[in-house]
Amino acid sequence: MEYRSLGKTGINVSRLCFGTLTIGPLQAGLSIKKGAYLIREACEEGINFFDTAETYKNYQQLYEAFKGIHPKPVVATKSYAYKKEDMELSLISALKNMGLEVIDIFLLHEQESELTIKGHYPALEYLLRAKQKGYIRAVGISCHTVAAVKGALKFPEIDIIHPMINIKGIGIKDGTLEEMLEALEMVEQNKTGIYGMKPLGGGHLIGSYKEALNFALSLEFLDSIAVGIQSKGELIINKAIFSGEPVPEDYKEKVSTKPRKLVIGSWCEGCGKCVSNCPQNALQLKDSRVSVIEKECTLCGYCGAYCMEMCLKIF
Ligand code: SF4
Ligand code: SF4
Repeated sequence: MEYRSLGKTGINVSRLCFGTLTIGPLQAGLSIKKGAYLIREACEEGINFFDTAETYKNYQQLYEAFKGIHPKPVVATKSYAYKKEDMELSLISALKNMGLEVIDIFLLHEQESELTIKGHYPALEYLLRAKQKGYIRAVGISCHTVAAVKGALKFPEIDIIHPMINIKGIGIKDGTLEEMLEALEMVEQNKTGIYGMKPLGGGHLIGSYKEALNFALSLEFLDSIAVGIQSKGELIINKAIFSGEPVPEDYKEKVSTKPRKLVIGSWCEGCGKCVSNCPQNALQLKDSRVSVIEKECTLCGYCGAYCMEMCLKIF
């Protein structure tokens, strides 16, 4: 496994980052014990970087996994807070619920542009103060837009960017793959750390996973790449590709290469909360029923967090 420093932060991470959204309640819904077991297996395979977020609701899996491990692996988390007080609660929750003394990377979740970063500045200022006090090692943003990557260039205090990037440009909300690549190259010149998200387009590119992952690996400015992993088979396959080794035949057969999709339960009450909170505008409400526009859906699973009826699952 290759390890790199995330920009100039000095935080050393495996090139393969375990994106834990996929094991939490918004996706596979593994129990705390099973999720923790998979995370520990990933540590044994050399992965030392785990990406989560407050909205993924899976801090307990990480808490359980990291019990007794020293030093702790690198953890990145995110919050939608835009006020200082709310970000303070987010930081306290992350530290307490993952059993950590320091959060390595804390990101403003899903920024869209320079304007939204400005709108979240009180929360960012709080993170910067927490960094000075030693509770956080690096701050940054996650984003699905070219405008946010360009916007981040105006804030030298941002250490890390976590952008949407994959071979087909799936999920980039405001531009093409080429425009995203160009913006990220500008960011790299500032020595900002970059770790990509959704190299498999949220599951749409599973049918050509080798090509999609090799594309991400070819992007030298990506210090690390977060890949959603749900099983031991996926872990072994990803590790092999990231290590430049052949994919073991027996695991190839065990892992489904069927594209995943969002399934909406028949008991949907048509409240519309998921529709207004989908970052990709991939849900529509008609005659009190929700349906998904599959080509727009990045299978991020965020809509699931807004459905009190538990109608939304990715299979
Ligand atoms: S429909 Fe749900 S899973 Fe698909 S992009 Fe929107 S929030 Fe993400
Ligand atoms: S939030 Fe749940 S119940 Fe409400 S419209 Fe969406 S799927 Fe249906």
